Amino acid sequence: MIIITLQRAKCIGCNYCQEVAPEQYRMSKKDGKAVLLHSRERSGFHTVKIYNDSLMEANEKAAEGCPVKIIKVKLQ
Ligand code: SF4
Repeated sequence: MIIITLQRAKCIGCNYCQEVAPEQYRMSKKDGKAVLLHSRERSGFHTVKIYNDSLMEANEKAAEGCPVKIIKVKLQ
């Protein structure tokens, strides 16, 4: 299982995460920030659990490449 967390308020809308992990992220047309698909928000942190470990690589790439380092990815 992969746990992904996005601290959405700090997103600068660079689009990188959507490019490398389109299954997980979409840019919002409303505010231009990334949306972590199917996530739940709590205190500004958006979290989702993914039961497909093959998505780990793309999500790690998003986390590593995010210029403001607001994506965290954990394998459990
Ligand atoms: S890579 Fe980071 S800053 Fe860029 S759109 Fe995604 S969450 Fe926002």
